[in-house]
Amino acid sequence: MATIAFIGLGNMGGPMAANLVAAGHTVRGFDVVPAALDHARANGVIVVENAAAAVAGSELVITMLQSGAQVFEVTRTLLAAAAPGTLFIDSSTIDVADAIAVRELLVAAGFRGIDAPVSGGVGGAAAGTLTFMVGAEQADFATAMPILEVMGGRVVHCGGSGAGQAAKICNNMILGISMIAVSEAFVLGEKLGLTNQALFDVASAASGQCWALTTNCPVPGPVPASPANRDYQPGFAGALMAKDLGLALNALEQTGTAAELGPLAAKIYRRFADEGGAGRDFSGIITVIRENSAKVSA
Ligand code: NAD
Repeated sequence: MATIAFIGLGNMGGPMAANLVAAGHTVRGFDVVPAALDHARANGVIVVENAAAAVAGSELVITMLQSGAQVFEVTRTLLAAAAPGTLFIDSSTIDVADAIAVRELLVAAGFRGIDAPVSGGVGGAAAGTLTFMVGAEQADFATAMPILEVMGGRVVHCGGSGAGQAAKICNNMILGISMIAVSEAFVLGEKLGLTNQALFDVASAASGQCWALTTNCPVPGPVPASPANRDYQPGFAGALMAKDLGLALNALEQTGTAAELGPLAAKIYRRFADEGGAGRDFSGIITVIRENSAKVSA
């Protein structure tokens, strides 16, 4: 069993750390929010007074933070505290370029680092069924694997440093674009006199079939578990989709990729988040499309 430092015990990190404790690992945790610490303590995490104290005596460090800037800040504070050779696993969703730069910082200081962002949301974090997308050297991947398997149902080695973030950003760009496509199709169907159920029954078994339609369906009814049935309570919040599409936009610009729908989806979800959708499920974008359509018709 390992001793693991866990920094960032929020919506995702909290349950991930709890699963490591439940599997028998010793977890030394830190977060800047006292309520997150209380929660973690109740789940068996050894709560310490700062990030450096969490790292003392740990052979692994997991960070689950909001942004690249936070990952840089926390990682820098740990360089003096960690034992040589410590493996740093960053599971936050951040820029590909930031992920590569964080690893370079670690390697230059005598440590090992991998990017291992996740999909599966808070439910997957609690159930231990997250999908991990990993960018790592083979040896570092092998060290991380038994730990990631505790928190995840699927662990994919995507390539070298930054490849995990690359996979995460590409996947979520597909998701953002496809949710807008599905939502526009439902509103068009409504205007054409189709019932939502009829469109669902056809598209879910035809070439329009995708996760945004069959699992996270933006209209209430056809998929009882989708957030549309509970007034768009997330689920996957609009703020997070706007953030991930912002990362995709950066990557599109940095790589000179001639995408048109990715930047448009980023703009649509930024506006959605800024105009009241930040805390709603991202499938709530359909309500904006309906409202805008009503204005056009008026
Ligand atoms: P969160 O805001 O709930 O948790 C992040 C935690 O980091 C917070 O508790 C915050 O206090 C803590 N933190 C910030 N700065 C710190 C510092 N200097 N030292 C210690 N702790 C610090 O966010 P989350 O929903 O848990 O998401 C974490 C990451 O996972 C994000 O990058 C997000 O994009 C990604 N992600 C989230 C989901 C989801 O459904 N929530 C799904 C997949 C990926």
